[in-house]
Amino acid sequence: MKVVLLSGGGGGARFARGLDGVLAPGELTVIGNVGDDLEILGLHVSPDLDSLLYTLAGLIDLERGWGRAGETWNALESAGAWGGESWFRVGDLDIGLHLVRTQALRDGVPLSEVTEQLAGRAGVQSRILPATDDRLRTKVVTPAGTFPFQEWYVGRGHRDDVDAVEYDGAADATPAPGVLAALAAADAILIAPSNPYLSIGPIVAIQPIRQAIERRGVRCVAVSPLVGGAAVTGPAGRMLSRMAGGATPRHVTDCYVGLIDRLVIDESDFAAEAPVELVMAKTLMSDHEAERRLADVVLETSCA
Ligand code: GDP
Repeated sequence: MKVVLLSGGGGGARFARGLDGVLAPGELTVIGNVGDDLEILGLHVSPDLDSLLYTLAGLIDLERGWGRAGETWNALESAGAWGGESWFRVGDLDIGLHLVRTQALRDGVPLSEVTEQLAGRAGVQSRILPATDDRLRTKVVTPAGTFPFQEWYVGRGHRDDVDAVEYDGAADATPAPGVLAALAAADAILIAPSNPYLSIGPIVAIQPIRQAIERRGVRCVAVSPLVGGAAVTGPAGRMLSRMAGGATPRHVTDCYVGLIDRLVIDESDFAAEAPVELVMAKTLMSDHEAERRLADVVLETSCA
């Protein structure tokens, strides 16, 4: 069974690990968000692709939820002491990856190719593809001004309310090689329990990707990032309340009009009416077993 997952780097990466655990090697292709990417200290960082890579390779720091286990921070501390930027946290082990990727990009290797090489070296059996090799950057419009994504998220601790999200470069971006082919060959298309505005929005803002999903011949199933009317982590609940008018399953479906056939929601989020079929499940991924159980339910509902 060939499965394509659209994903961010948090809830998305953990759901990807669940799928990776129940599917056969090579059956899963993850299309990762690049709207969060940034250049810091001269290094190209792709936070969502890295979270996917670290999670699927078993290298992620499980407690922190991002970056590598056993990380140290000497390079960043030194950079800060020398007057460099240190607001965006990159650890020593993490920097090793950023150095290799940045050099490859400067040598003209596309992001998709570098990502594939890195995933191969880490022994990841699922395929991780950036949504695009082109420059696509998320910007957040707030009452305090418009900020590049990481300046708002990390720099300002995502405190400001969000009025709108912009995807700079999306209109001209082309899908990375392999993305449209994977969508065309998929037996099921899945949207991870990721932030609809910040993680999935930038992917489906790339028109050929949106059109491929709109014209799908197979079922597309999303998993809600809400549990009990709130996001499990991060600002999705607040953003849905302010921009969609509420944080219920129906408001999640409003973000995916024309893109999904079913929404898997948590049992604590029962909602009477929604424009697509709602499927109840335990969606809190508290451990690896819960990730795999959720993956099984979602795969089943994508075929049944
Ligand atoms: P980011 O790139 O780090 O923002 O990661 P994602 O967008 O992929 O993931 C963030 C979203 O994952 C948040 O909106 C959370 O509510 C959601 N999330 C995190 N853990 C879980 C979980 O166990 N279950 C569900 N349903 N959603 C989760």
